[in-house]
Amino acid sequence: MPYVCIHCGKKIKQMGNFVRCEYCGSRVMVKSRPNLSREASTD
Ligand SMILES: [Zn+2]
Repeated sequence: MPYVCIHCGKKIKQMGNFVRCEYCGSRVMVKSRPNLSREASTD
């Protein structure tokens, strides 16, 4: 599961213990969850 940098929004493929964003250098990132944003909607 890819990670997404919360600072610049770039996708990070590396999944080590301490993954650093190669674009902005941020180490804060979250797991990519495509369905999370639509989970609240009730269709
Ligand atoms: Zn970044």
